[in-house]
Amino acid sequence: MKQTKMLIHTLREVPRDADVISQQLMMRAGMIQKLAAGIYDYLPLAFRSIRKFEEILREELAKDGCQELLMPTVQPAELWQESGRWSFYGKELLRLKDRKDADFCLGPTHEEVITDIVRRNVSSYKQLPMNLFQIQTKFRDEIRPRFGLMRGREFIMKDAYSFDVDDAAADKSYWAMYNCYSRIFARLGVKFRPVEADSGAIGGSFTHEFHVLAGSGEDAILSCDHCDYTSNAEKTEAPRIPPVDHGPAMALKPAHFKTPGIFAMAEQAVAFVDGEHNGMPLHQTSKVYWMDADLVVGKDADGHVTRRLAVAVTLRGDHEMNPVKVKNALGAVVLQPMADAEDFTGSVSGFLGPVARAGTRQWELEHSHPDAVVHLVDKALEGANNLTCGANVVDGHHFGFDPGRDLPSPRYLDVRMAQEGDLCPRCGQGHYQAFRGIEVGQVFKLGTKYSKAMNCVYLDEHGKENPMVMGCYGIGVGRTVAAAIEQNYDADGIIWPWPIAPYQVHLLDLDPGNAEVRAVAERMEKELEAGGFEVLHDDREGLSPGAKFKDADLLGFPLRAMVGSRGLKEGLVELRDRRSKEVVKFKPEEIVAQVAAARDRIMRELDAQGGR
Ligand code: ATP
Ligand code: MG
Repeated sequence: MKQTKMLIHTLREVPRDADVISQQLMMRAGMIQKLAAGIYDYLPLAFRSIRKFEEILREELAKDGCQELLMPTVQPAELWQESGRWSFYGKELLRLKDRKDADFCLGPTHEEVITDIVRRNVSSYKQLPMNLFQIQTKFRDEIRPRFGLMRGREFIMKDAYSFDVDDAAADKSYWAMYNCYSRIFARLGVKFRPVEADSGAIGGSFTHEFHVLAGSGEDAILSCDHCDYTSNAEKTEAPRIPPVDHGPAMALKPAHFKTPGIFAMAEQAVAFVDGEHNGMPLHQTSKVYWMDADLVVGKDADGHVTRRLAVAVTLRGDHEMNPVKVKNALGAVVLQPMADAEDFTGSVSGFLGPVARAGTRQWELEHSHPDAVVHLVDKALEGANNLTCGANVVDGHHFGFDPGRDLPSPRYLDVRMAQEGDLCPRCGQGHYQAFRGIEVGQVFKLGTKYSKAMNCVYLDEHGKENPMVMGCYGIGVGRTVAAAIEQNYDADGIIWPWPIAPYQVHLLDLDPGNAEVRAVAERMEKELEAGGFEVLHDDREGLSPGAKFKDADLLGFPLRAMVGSRGLKEGLVELRDRRSKEVVKFKPEEIVAQVAAARDRIMRELDAQGGR
């Protein structure tokens, strides 16, 4: 392919609205351009990489007997009402009306449509298991689209769905997909980890996310340095730590410590001074997060009726709340910071506490409707006493706080964020190490949530009707390509992993005005293509070799072949490895053998790296 004929426009400057490396490099390399927020044009170079990744997906999924189909982007509201998600799915679901005023949405995912397809076409246990997938454009009206292809509103996803006769069979399908994903990301040669992730509060479900490790990743991952336990920090189990002994229990001393004008926990602790104490250790302080939680208590025409609870989450002063754990513990559909916590507790921010002060709304509610206020206390405080806590009066903190004694019906649970260095509770030997990751895929055992709601059933060998047990499996195609760049670049540009490089060889004609050079370059292009390699031939005239080198580094194809009049005087051309920068010189007729040898070496290095 001649570069003069190809739609590529490279940029020297970093585009102003590009926040992460992959987005900057893909825009500078002329791979993508923004059409609207979170909506991108995939130009030919990007599309070649995407297509290659899609082929890897197809090849690996085929090994597990998955069948490809294609579902519509536009989906009727009725299906979403049947599953109950029409009212649950928030503003990310782009809803539209047709000319007859009927409701539709743009598919953010396809559980409803696939369940409808299977219930209409599959009825016997003999047809199961079945795994169906598509590669298709999704739309999610993300609140903050950013990072180019990594968090778009419109994006390409591979989504697969499995249907099985029972739990054990569904688990088998799940682990087959887990292994399939491991093969897929290993083939790319990227460093990745499968991590245990939060599956919400649906019974019978569990899930792993696949993360490409990168400093720019949005997710925090904790991984034990001794056993295999690796999980998304939003779900990582915190180790049990015995309460620190703070001496014989004392009575609650109301608003004992005064720290006017000091609002941050760590600074307050230093300022907790009385006759006996010159500051308190953070493990003897406590803090509270007041939250509003909505629980589903019934159904109505819109789908569901919710009830609101006031929730106080009390933790040690040096621990952070984990909102996912709190949400799951309550079985809440929505959990958010209580907007009017100051009014509710009769306090001001910085001095909020869990113990009700007489005459406040909290006090009245705890006395009139005790089940409308929930006190969750982190396990690290089980059995603790002589703590400090916000007094719900300006500037004041209580001393002598004992959650078990001073709170109405406290529930002790693991509700904190685990941290790097924490002892791993799974093996009891290793400690957590922290990583950042980009979630590129997820495998999810759904159980019977959709099959029951939408009556997707089969007849077993006794003629009895049962709901199918489902799993769903997504991979972000654009996000994976971008994540591969996040892991593979240098100051000059992209360093493509061979399997998804738009082209494998960038052939630079350094003297296009010279007839001999041109003829040799033409011949090399033809021979490489005949040898099965993908070549972009930079045949542009009027550009210095330096300018061509810069563009080639930016585009980042694994190999760069160079033909110039100076080299040809000695009868030699050059081949440069983008990653190692090593150059070899040889006769033009050896080009195919040299490129093949370089490819074999690169693929061996990739195999050694994949997954580590
Ligand atoms: P996230 O937590 O990052 O918003 P998700 O967990 O909601 O993603 P899934 O529903 O699991 O996403 O979708 C499957 C895959 O689709 C994800 O693993 C990711 O690779 C990709 N994906 C999801 N949202 C986006 C997006 N806005 N832009 C690009 N890819 C996305
Ligand atoms: Mg996900």
